[in-house]
Amino acid sequence: MDKILAGIAHFQRTIFPQLSAASAAAATGPQRPLALFITCSDSRVTPHLITQTDPGDLFGCQVVGNIVPAYGATYGGVSATIEYALAVLNVADVIICGHSDCGAMKVLLDPSSVEGMAHIKTWLLHAAAARLTVLENWPDEDEDTKLRLLTEHNVVTQLMHLRTHPAVASRLVGGKLRLHGWVYELHTGEVRVFDERSGAFLPAIPPGDEAP
Ligand SMILES: [Zn+2]
Repeated sequence: MDKILAGIAHFQRTIFPQLSAASAAAATGPQRPLALFITCSDSRVTPHLITQTDPGDLFGCQVVGNIVPAYGATYGGVSATIEYALAVLNVADVIICGHSDCGAMKVLLDPSSVEGMAHIKTWLLHAAAARLTVLENWPDEDEDTKLRLLTEHNVVTQLMHLRTHPAVASRLVGGKLRLHGWVYELHTGEVRVFDERSGAFLPAIPPGDEAP
């Protein structure tokens, strides 16, 4: 805990006083986040850092495997977060962000590693469509390729689940909401974005466009 407590001290003394006026306003006024950002609980995935956003910008939901149960499948925290973000905060964008080297995706490829862990096994059933898609269509690929494909297809599966939520479905038809599927590469910092037309995940920032 020492590192964490020292971090609080540094934040209070040095960082907080330097926050932008927009950040200060966000801290005291009603929140108006730009997006709902659903991603994995993995400690290496840091939404504000990778998007360089401020307090107040992202309404967050970090959950194992960036999984979104279909509407009615469970009545849990993820569904409540979606409902609040849309019905109360009126966010215009929802991002589901998977990531490379995801432990949850590895478990899907090797379920024996969580034998006896009932909650994880049950939770990962919400990614069963992605798992079967990869195992049936790419049975001969190596494990690294399967892991990348599963990470991508899991994002696509969770986007499908997201569309079953009434607040999402209605706003999509009304043109008030956009959905985004991302994969964050831990080892390069790159973000790839799902392109519905091609079915591929393409760089969020095309090569050569990094500056400024
Ligand atoms: Zn993960």
